[in-house]
Amino acid sequence: MSRRATLRELLYDHTIPAARELVTVEPDRSVRCSACGHRCHIRPDKSGICLMRFNRDGELRVPGGYVAGLAIDPIEKKPFYHVLPGSEALSFGMLGCNFHCKFCQNWVSSQALRDDRAVSEPSQYCTPEQIVQAALDHEVPIITSTYNEPLITSEWSAEIFRLASAEGILCGYVSNGHGTPEVIEFLRPHMSLFNIDLKCFDADNYRELGGRFEAVTDTIRRAHEMDFWVEVVTLVVPGFNDGDDELKRTAEFIASVSEDIPWHCTAYRPMYKSTEPKSTPPSTLARAYELGKAAGLKHVYSGNLPGLVGETEHTYCPSCKARLVERRGFYVSSCRLVGEACPDCGMRIAGRFEPKGQGPSRSSGVPRPAGL
Ligand code: SF4
Repeated sequence: MSRRATLRELLYDHTIPAARELVTVEPDRSVRCSACGHRCHIRPDKSGICLMRFNRDGELRVPGGYVAGLAIDPIEKKPFYHVLPGSEALSFGMLGCNFHCKFCQNWVSSQALRDDRAVSEPSQYCTPEQIVQAALDHEVPIITSTYNEPLITSEWSAEIFRLASAEGILCGYVSNGHGTPEVIEFLRPHMSLFNIDLKCFDADNYRELGGRFEAVTDTIRRAHEMDFWVEVVTLVVPGFNDGDDELKRTAEFIASVSEDIPWHCTAYRPMYKSTEPKSTPPSTLARAYELGKAAGLKHVYSGNLPGLVGETEHTYCPSCKARLVERRGFYVSSCRLVGEACPDCGMRIAGRFEPKGQGPSRSSGVPRPAGL
C-alpha cells in the first residue's frame, strides 16, 4: 500500500460529522460542502478538492481529533500586530489545503494527500478540551488555527473556540480567506480574529493557485463588516504580484474596506515548487509600503526581513506619528499603548489591545513547544 493511501486511511479514521450549517445533502446521497469558496459537490466515497472532507454513505465527514502542529508562537508570527502586541498564541494546525500554491511556505502540511513528498502526519491525537487546557496551563490569551488552511477544518476549530472563548481567550484564523458567507457566520460566535492572505490582485493568478479571487475579497469585506478584527497579508513574490499597479490596486482595495486594516507585505523565499525568482529584496517591500500609505492605509508593515526594512516593522500613531510599538521580527521591545490609545495624543488605535481573560503572556519572540 502506498504511503499516501496509508495516510488517507489514518486521516479518514479521525473525523467528525460536518456541521449542518456547512453541508447540504442531496436526494442521491451526494453532498454540497460550503466550508470554502469551492462549494464542492461530493458524491458517495469521494472527497472534495481539499481531499480532507469526504462523503461516507451520504454523510460529509470532516477532520477532527488530531493536530499536526502545536506550538506557542509569538502573536507577531501569525502575523497579528494589532492584537495584544508581544503576547503569545497557542497555535494548532491540521493537514491539507484547498489551494496548491507553488510557493507555499507550509507545503509539507498543506499538500498532504496531494503530493507524495508532503510527509506530515498527525503529531498528536487529542480533544478540544486538551487544547484549551494547554492554553490555560501556559497562560496564553490567544488560540489560532494556522499552519494549514483552517477553513477546511472549521468544525474542529469551532469546537475548540467555543470552549476557549468561554474562558475569555481570543480565537482566530490564519487563512487564505477562500470562504463563504455560511462559514463566516458559523465561526463568528466564538472567533474574533481573522488574518487573511490576499495573494495577488488578479483573477487568473488566483485560478493558478487553486482559488477564486472574488471569494477572497468577499471574505475580507464580510469579515470586516461582521466585526472580526482583520489583518491582511500579501507575500510579495517578484514577477508574480510585485508590479506597482498590482500593489497599488491591492492596497486601494484594502483601504476601500477600511483604512484601519493593517497590511503586511512580507518577503518571499524560494520554496516548494518555486525555485525562481530569488527572495524579495527590501527595496520591493519599501515600495509596497509607500504604495500602501499612498492608498490611505494607516498601518503598513514589512515582514520576514527583520532589521532590514527600516522603520516599517513598528506601529505608529496615525495622528501624531509617535512610535507606539517597537518590533524586530517577532520580538516586541516596547509597547507604549495605554489601553487602546496613543499616550501622547490620545487617539484610539484600531485593534484588540485589551485582554478579556487571562493577561498577555510576554513572548521572547521565539516559538516554543506546547505539550498537551
Ligand atoms: S472545504 Fe472547500 S475544498 Fe474542501 S470539500 Fe469543502 S468546499 Fe470542497
